[in-house]
Amino acid sequence: MNKKYFYNLSILFLIFVFALAIHRSAYAAFPVTERIPYSDFKKLIQEDKLEEVILDTTTIKGVLKAEEGQTFKRNVTTVKVDDPDLIKELVEHSVKFSATAQNGTSQYLYLIWFIPMIIFLIMMTRARRGATGAGLMSIGKSRANLYIDKDTGVTFDDVAGVDEAKEELKEVIDYLKKKKKYQRLGGKIPKGVLLVGPTGTGKTLLAKAVAGEAKVPFFSISGSGFVEMFVGVGAARVRDLFAQGQEKAPCIIFIDEIDALGKVRAAAPISGGHEERENTLNQLLVEMDGFDTRKGVILMAATNRPEILDPALLRPGRFDRHILVDRPDIKGREEILKVHCKNVKLGNNVDIKIIAARTPGFVGADLANVVNEAALLAARVGNEAVGMDNFEEAINRVIAGLEKKKRVMSKKEQEIIAYHESGHALVAESVPGADKVHRISIIPRGIAALGYTLQLPTEDRYLLTRSELLDRLAVLLGGRVAEEIHFNEISTGAQNDLERATDIAMSMVREYGMSEKMGPMTFQNGKKPQFMDIGFRTGRELSEEVSKEIDSEVKKIIFDIHARVKDILAKNKDRLQILAKLLMEKEVVEGDELRKIISENIPPPKKESSV
Ligand code: ADP
Ligand code: ZN
Repeated sequence: MNKKYFYNLSILFLIFVFALAIHRSAYAAFPVTERIPYSDFKKLIQEDKLEEVILDTTTIKGVLKAEEGQTFKRNVTTVKVDDPDLIKELVEHSVKFSATAQNGTSQYLYLIWFIPMIIFLIMMTRARRGATGAGLMSIGKSRANLYIDKDTGVTFDDVAGVDEAKEELKEVIDYLKKKKKYQRLGGKIPKGVLLVGPTGTGKTLLAKAVAGEAKVPFFSISGSGFVEMFVGVGAARVRDLFAQGQEKAPCIIFIDEIDALGKVRAAAPISGGHEERENTLNQLLVEMDGFDTRKGVILMAATNRPEILDPALLRPGRFDRHILVDRPDIKGREEILKVHCKNVKLGNNVDIKIIAARTPGFVGADLANVVNEAALLAARVGNEAVGMDNFEEAINRVIAGLEKKKRVMSKKEQEIIAYHESGHALVAESVPGADKVHRISIIPRGIAALGYTLQLPTEDRYLLTRSELLDRLAVLLGGRVAEEIHFNEISTGAQNDLERATDIAMSMVREYGMSEKMGPMTFQNGKKPQFMDIGFRTGRELSEEVSKEIDSEVKKIIFDIHARVKDILAKNKDRLQILAKLLMEKEVVEGDELRKIISENIPPPKKESSV
């Protein structure tokens, strides 16, 4: 039976019971409970069959634990006997008990409310038991999905291909190890470290390694684990988590998938679930502000969607240290493979370099998967060692799995991207007003979709000249034009570039007065008036004619630049090819390398003067 169906049925049943209860109460009788002798009642306690007991002045009511396959629990009732040992026994067998001073009909009235409540709670408990492995009694205790490792046993040697992140985390380890020394020197230590990167790149592993290196306990909990059904539970969990952390300090508290609980608050439509999430988030903020780093509790969190996080979480004193954990390049993949092959018997023909080259876009988790799969394949056919053929097949299997999740680039896509990026780079090196190329990479960047929150300089803060703007436009168009020249075909890959180019051209005409035809004037009121904007900036309405003129000026700028870029790249067709091929081979080419290689092969591209 389908779970949802079962759930709906249960709700119906509950309503039915409830209606029945009210109906029955009219006759002051409520025969849902089974009457049993006191001796049987005691036996139930001994056999651990009771879940809860309610003591009345004259009767004792017991709720039996649900048996397999039952949707609700049986109740029993017995006449109260003078038995001084009862309470002791109840405690011994951990039966929950409570007393009520009521009797007579009012007792039944109480039951009317109580029984559906119990049934409801039972159903809730059962529903959540599957998910969290915890029962009714542990609601509110973070025990349910809080994991504590006294010693993670993970070291930095187990994490490969993320050297920059490791370097940054060394400071944290140092602090945890020599807390006293840091305090004496008044060193400032981050409270919260946010690891940002695609899933499977080793963020959790890194956090564990920090705990392992510093030899401190590791508390971990998942942000999605905070999303609770009951009001107040999430906040209670956060409180509990921090209380435990403070107790065991120095330690690391790690919150995985923090985005599940730290989404921007106002963005979500109002509903009960969100309110609860907000309470939890607020509690987290309160705890973060309240706890004292000097005790040695370091908070770490991971996300693959930093852009949706509530800015309050990222403020100074909270998660103010961000560390990027990106997809590994070919060298990183080689190192990760080595880590995972450590305990695998490899055949003589296995070349890890080749495996690394065959797996662009794979993250650490995918590579671990490949090694695992290869070992299984080898074992299945009874091989002594894992051979290259096993790896080949394992890679194909993992790729098939990833393709379903749309995470793998085909060879053709890779080629297009290589030419596209080479186009940007070559134009950037050819025009005087563009920034120098620092690095070109064709590694699929899951993080690019994240809007590069971690990248700093925003372009429009600078004072730029007209020719510099035009050069920037040229670089932006470089990708698209390279595709046109090499493939005689264009792809959707340039969408973002074109958007930005159009924006720049638009600003040149409308805001900076940089179009000769339109003259040194601004035409800003194309922007929609803001809600609170009344009276500002909204006075002038552009005529249709002027709007048309603006559009044609923008178009002219873009078309001129396009022609110019086409000219540049047509002259550098060979360089484009050399660079693209190198990129496909190495995936990452550093700026200096690029300049060196280009000047070695063919005389360096002549610097063109800008239009
Ligand atoms: P994330 O938290 O970023 O989603 P995990 O840390 O859970 O990723 O990675 C899952 C598994 O993949 C790890 O337990 C490890 O076996 C493997 N793995 C991921 N990244 C790396 C890496 N950089 N070096 C070695 N193994 C890795
Ligand atoms: Zn581009």
